[in-house]
Amino acid sequence: MKDCTEYIQNLCSYVDGEADDSICKEIEKHLKDCPECRVMVDTLKKTVVLCKEGEKKHLPAELRAKLKSALEKKWKERFGNEADEETPPDGEK
Ligand SMILES: [Zn+2]
Repeated sequence: MKDCTEYIQNLCSYVDGEADDSICKEIEKHLKDCPECRVMVDTLKKTVVLCKEGEKKHLPAELRAKLKSALEKKWKERFGNEADEETPPDGEK
């Protein structure tokens, strides 16, 4: 079972159309249960559209990084420390 933070890194590629088919399916499944991520995908889609209209290319890495950290912050505020980054702990949980 994944939590939202594990989807963050894939949401950008999902919206960008770069994610694998299996990842897309997983994300879509998660989106059905998760309004937070739906809002996020919606926001990302708008950003991507704006970006593509303006520059005719994929999201720049810098923008991705900004979105990602904004997302992580938002999710952390909402879910607290449980929703930590993908960094695994040193020892066992
Ligand atoms: Zn979610």
